[in-house]
Amino acid sequence: MPVFRFAPSSNGELHLGHAYSALLNAKLAKAQSGRLLLRIEDIDTTRCTPEFEASIFRDLSWLGLKWEEPVRRQSEHFAEYDALLQRLIREELVYPAFMSRGEIRAYIADSEKRGRDWPRDPDGAPLYPALDKALSPSERRRRIDDGAPFAWRLDTDAAIARLAEPLSWTEFADETLSAANEIEARPQDWGDVIVARKEIPTSYHLSVVADDALQGVTHVVRGRDLYAATGIQRLLQHLLGLPAPVYFHHRLIPGPDGRKLSKSLGDTGLATLRENGTTPAEVRRLVGF
Ligand code: GLU
Repeated sequence: MPVFRFAPSSNGELHLGHAYSALLNAKLAKAQSGRLLLRIEDIDTTRCTPEFEASIFRDLSWLGLKWEEPVRRQSEHFAEYDALLQRLIREELVYPAFMSRGEIRAYIADSEKRGRDWPRDPDGAPLYPALDKALSPSERRRRIDDGAPFAWRLDTDAAIARLAEPLSWTEFADETLSAANEIEARPQDWGDVIVARKEIPTSYHLSVVADDALQGVTHVVRGRDLYAATGIQRLLQHLLGLPAPVYFHHRLIPGPDGRKLSKSLGDTGLATLRENGTTPAEVRRLVGF
């Protein structure tokens, strides 16, 4: 049976873009006689709050959505993500990366001063200068024992080198999910992504692939802004022996100024719309249903 999911982060209020994503997942789950799961992505325990989580439930219920209980809350599953991380550590597919944000910035600025354009990931963030990869095991151990802060980063080149053939994913052509294309995964575009941090013992990429597999998600329907991320997530799925769902990355709902909606655009927030007298039927029309 097809399993769909809507997986918002509880670090802000839902807006029209979330409404579209949730309604589309519900519509497709219904059309395919599938299941719809709701997952709260709250690994960032400093920015995610119980209040935002409650507002997600309130907004989705107001829209008339129903989902299965219990809802999976990622912050309750750090031990499961850690078990996957330990596998990657054992297989030497991740390494401790010690450079702080400031050191990374300074290193890149220095390199760019000398005329080298630093490569950026599909989201525009500079790739990690993978200097730590060259550290000897004893030097790594010494720094860790000294209490130096570090993050576990994927050795993306090493991981790609272990592939028998290039990775791809199945992407539906439109929201009817009738035709699909195979898309080449380009994990190399992301460089050495963070798999786990000290203060957050997992990462978005690790927990999303873990949960999609654990919850038996077969269809990942989410915004176009996560299209390229699928490349690195496919690599993690492969390394961890997790099944690959099929994907559809839907259009994004633009804000009144034509720009991408963000959690700070209060007037497109579902709670604000509701307070201003907008009805769920109007929300459906606003997002194009
Ligand atoms: N939690 C992510 C977000 O709110 C979505 C994750 C996903 O759908 O893969 O942007």
